[in-house]
Amino acid sequence: MSQIVSPLIDRFGRAITYLRVSVTDRCDFRCTYCMAEDMTFLSRKDLLTLEEIDRLTSAFIARGVRKIRLTGGEPLVRRNIMWLVEAVSRHLGNDLDELTLTTNGSQLARYADALAGAGIVRINVSLDTLDAAKFRVLTRWGDFDQVMRGIDAADRAGLKIKINTVALRDCNEDEIADLLRWCHGRGFDLTLIETMPMGEIEADRTDQYLPLSLVRARLEQRFTLADIPYRSGGPARYAQVAETGGRLGFITPMTHNFCESCNRVRVTCTGTLYMCLGQDDAADLREPLRASVSDDLLHATIDAAIARKPKGHDFVIDRRAAPAVSRHMSVTGG
Ligand code: SAM
Ligand code: SF4
Repeated sequence: MSQIVSPLIDRFGRAITYLRVSVTDRCDFRCTYCMAEDMTFLSRKDLLTLEEIDRLTSAFIARGVRKIRLTGGEPLVRRNIMWLVEAVSRHLGNDLDELTLTTNGSQLARYADALAGAGIVRINVSLDTLDAAKFRVLTRWGDFDQVMRGIDAADRAGLKIKINTVALRDCNEDEIADLLRWCHGRGFDLTLIETMPMGEIEADRTDQYLPLSLVRARLEQRFTLADIPYRSGGPARYAQVAETGGRLGFITPMTHNFCESCNRVRVTCTGTLYMCLGQDDAADLREPLRASVSDDLLHATIDAAIARKPKGHDFVIDRRAAPAVSRHMSVTGG
């Protein structure tokens, strides 16, 4: 019989209410800023089963987590992913406020209706360009039209869509205004993200990095941006764009410290708990999960890990520096 468990509060008083779960490290794209082209992926035997992920998420929900995001790699390439979505969605309306996912959109045409049917209300779709040729270069393997069909299907299914765009110097910086108009024209929020130094890639991150302070200053020459208190439960800070009537989010881990109000932790598809996106410290939850049918050891391991959650990340983008953390973003899913 499990003990009665208490909410997860770290030593800086931050309540952990948001869990991001990477359900696979695999992906059908190879975005240049995210992965190397010849990535080596985990062997399937190291992965948590979907049943184990369900048990893990339920343990976090019992500890006060109210929002769960499935991510990856590409979450929709994990086999039987809808089983997990449906399993976790049983908590919705009770002890879970939101189940959502971040996807590259490639499989949305297939899954949009099922996701909406399972109680998913909002999704994030990553899209860095509206130019099909550039999209192919950036994602290496992605098909722009397939992603557009996926976005259309999600829209038709009634899912609220937020587009995530990584701002990349000399790549999509001249397109941000067009992306903004396109998103808002279709009723989607747009959130811009700074590149983070995670994992070895072929390109030099100093060449890719574009501070959002600069992007915002440029946008403000054309648009009227008013900061608003709206929050979507994550690290984005939002502005209302007068000309389009839509919302524009900024995720600025590099130019502003976004750690003070961090309510998040991340679990990888092997059951490794990362307390901070930008630090290497982690706790293995797979072993306690597999050690016993009781969750007691699991909860004790989670408690010990949360007690070590660091104050913040140490991201620096410097031509000479190695990545701040050696793992790729696709391990923890952002
Ligand atoms: N495959 C899914 C997708 O692309 O939406 C989910 C996983 S992906 C790792 C999650 C988000 O992280 C995407 O929006 C992607 O653009 C972003 N991302 C990947 N590598 C990044 C990096 N080094 N810095 C900033 N964002 C990154
Ligand atoms: Fe795949 Fe997402 Fe990384 Fe692109 S950003 S390679 S779609 S995991």
